[in-house]
Amino acid sequence: MFIDDTIAAIATAPGQGGIGIIRISGPDSLKIANKIFSPFHKGSILDYPIRTLIYGNILDGDTIIDEVLLAYMKGPNSYTAEDVIEINCHGGFISVRKILELVLKSGARMAQEGEFTKRAFLNGRIDLSQAEAVIDIINAKTEESHNVAQSQLEGTLSKKIRSLRDQITGILAQLEVAIDYPEEDIEFITYKELVDQTIDVNNQVKKLYQTADTGKILREGLKTAILGKPNVGKSSLMNLILGEDRAIVTDIPGTTRDVIEEFVNIKGIPLKIVDTAGIRATDDLVEKIGVEKSREHMKLADLALVVLDSSRPLDQEDIQILENIDQAKSLVILNKTDLACQMDIESLKSYVDTKNIINISALKGQGIDLIHDRMEDLVFEGKISDSSDLMITNSRHRDAIYKAMVSIGDAINSLNDRLPYDFIEVDLKDAWDSLGCINGDTIEEDLLDTIFSNFCIGK
Ligand code: GDP
Repeated sequence: MFIDDTIAAIATAPGQGGIGIIRISGPDSLKIANKIFSPFHKGSILDYPIRTLIYGNILDGDTIIDEVLLAYMKGPNSYTAEDVIEINCHGGFISVRKILELVLKSGARMAQEGEFTKRAFLNGRIDLSQAEAVIDIINAKTEESHNVAQSQLEGTLSKKIRSLRDQITGILAQLEVAIDYPEEDIEFITYKELVDQTIDVNNQVKKLYQTADTGKILREGLKTAILGKPNVGKSSLMNLILGEDRAIVTDIPGTTRDVIEEFVNIKGIPLKIVDTAGIRATDDLVEKIGVEKSREHMKLADLALVVLDSSRPLDQEDIQILENIDQAKSLVILNKTDLACQMDIESLKSYVDTKNIINISALKGQGIDLIHDRMEDLVFEGKISDSSDLMITNSRHRDAIYKAMVSIGDAINSLNDRLPYDFIEVDLKDAWDSLGCINGDTIEEDLLDTIFSNFCIGK
């Protein structure tokens, strides 16, 4: 794809700050910068070494707009692999906006979301999975998720995908020889070699796919729902986890009406906590919305914290909730243990595994560590903790790997059935294509637009 226009955008976050950065990329970057920038010491931008900060004024005619530091990065040695100019001006709203307007007036056009990174991809500096890692780095909620994204940007995933595709290409090439020259006296790939090589690729793809659940949690957060009938202490628990008073706590049953979402970092797991309005059946219209959402959230949640009030006997409502939870992803939080216990623990144990019952007092702030520990065990089951391992974090990649896995599985079935090599070739070619979507070798234009539309402007 030939890119002939020059784009510009504000690269820093809006609002007040020490500095603001305007980024320009494309063939006219230098021309535009020369029009509006006057260095303090000598001549023009090219009189200074490339990639040094040049001190000077941004001028609109004779009017000084701001005193800035400007850097020129000549393509292909730049973020986009094109000529790039970055202007560091004073932060705040006015300076950055005025300079951007001037840049646009001087011949650049406003960049779209993620367009700088898209250009880095289209110009071949990075592949698609690396481009996607850029947005993951920006959005990372914990150090672990940041590490995974950083390793993806370095190309760990790209390398693995390339290696898998090369291995498939190798098998395909041997198959083709066998198909094209069946009569010739050439050393063909033996049936056993073919099976072994295909199974080897299959195992590697499977292993990669198995990291996707954990990877998704690291990237998107563990969606955690706090459930329980009114007044058991859900809001208090949420506040305890968040470490501050964010949800409203009251004595009136059913006051947590809207669903509130918050992120919190628990042992490197980004927890996306959803506080819901109990799951009690009710005629109250306002609460009903909360209740329906709450049911929905239980279905969608990766983890449910089911809160019970230990100072009261287990009642029908609690039982109804306990009967509806998914044991594999639920912890029962026995709250208010600072009060005398009125709950029949033995009967509670008939609904839930003992190790998943955790005693706390949200009021006194006791037991939160136990929740953290058990949560970690439940999520990772001791499987991972090393986020530097190659991991699939992106659901687009996960889908592509899944498709590849199905195609390779089909190829293995065809091999087992001793079907002609053409069948196997078709399946392996499909797997090769699916994997190619990950690094962008075999991806369609409109999908690219969707991917980059998730970026912010200026990146
Ligand atoms: P929700 O309706 O389930 O969200 O419950 P809240 O968090 O609003 O709490 C209801 C009431 O129980 C409030 O008066 C809290 O102060 C009280 N409460 C919450 N946790 C505890 C606890 O651990 N011990 C005691 N004694 N009271 C608690």
